[in-house]
Amino acid sequence: MAKTVAFQKKARNVFFHILTRCNLKCRHCYINPAQQGKGTLPAKTVKRWLEVLIHGEKETNLIFIGGEPTLHPDLPLLVKAARRMGYASITVDTNGFFFNRILEKVHPEELDYFSVGLDGSCEEVNDFVRGKGSYDKCVGGIEKALAKGFNVSLIYTVSQWNIHDLKNMPDVLKALGVDRFYIQVIGIRGRSAQEKKDELQLTRKAWTAVVPKVAYRAARLGIHVTYPKVFLDSSSRFECAGLVADNYFVFPNGRVYQCPLCEDFPLHAYVFEKNKLAPTPPINENNLFQLSIPEGCVMNKLIQPGNLTYDKRGRPKYKVACCLLKEEIRAERK
Ligand code: SF4
Ligand code: SF4
Repeated sequence: MAKTVAFQKKARNVFFHILTRCNLKCRHCYINPAQQGKGTLPAKTVKRWLEVLIHGEKETNLIFIGGEPTLHPDLPLLVKAARRMGYASITVDTNGFFFNRILEKVHPEELDYFSVGLDGSCEEVNDFVRGKGSYDKCVGGIEKALAKGFNVSLIYTVSQWNIHDLKNMPDVLKALGVDRFYIQVIGIRGRSAQEKKDELQLTRKAWTAVVPKVAYRAARLGIHVTYPKVFLDSSSRFECAGLVADNYFVFPNGRVYQCPLCEDFPLHAYVFEKNKLAPTPPINENNLFQLSIPEGCVMNKLIQPGNLTYDKRGRPKYKVACCLLKEEIRAERK
């Protein structure tokens, strides 16, 4: 059965963008260097910020992200440093190119997961979104990482460009030997916001007709699947993670957001100043989290309302859930 993973009040997640640079130019890239910085944070600064972001009593999960985080030459040292500091889990989100010999410089026991992005079951679909040659390179990288004993999960960002191909992914994961699958929904930010955005977003009908079925099929093949809930019935309870959970999206220019949908705007709730985390003055994302609207997520309504529909009286037909609310389907045991 699919299970909604409620926001965990005791867990904290730190998504640390140690740089925004990348070797790829994906059409849907969520990065916006004008808002988030173009620099590569020195290892010394990353360590100081990691020390600030860990919590004495609550478990903190760390995700190194970019840009392409393996382009940071000191990532192996940072993984080891975070482990010593006591982060509860450490994941590296990568495009699968595995630069700077990261697979040789980190031991599988030091890292919980490499989360690798692939947006198609074949070259034709993936390379349209992520660039020529990226499919082969990514699949080769996954194979190498698995052969070295790393845990690998695969993340597929669903948009109108590739939803037709999602059904083929469970077999790709099975053939590769990847047992965790995260199906992400396209967000309209970064480069997606500049592309023809109406061509990208999915309707409720398109999402619900495809994603849960593919997820169940993958679970039957022994794969653990997670995907965002996205749509809620009007009567369902809505919660904003900005109010009830502890998430930190950290960027090289020092901005720290609590909501990823705010990342295209100077709405960050915190900022690193002289290596100390300081709250920003209003108006910031915290003020928006307080707003209660019948459509559910305020930021969704503001920046990507293409997934909302209304009845003849102007009432929303459903709510859009917090983008951080997940459904989970555990692998069926064989
Ligand atoms: S989506 Fe990820 S892999 Fe693609 S260009 Fe952006 S940072 Fe690079
Ligand atoms: S996505 Fe919406 S509901 Fe979730 S934290 Fe952001 S504003 Fe709140």
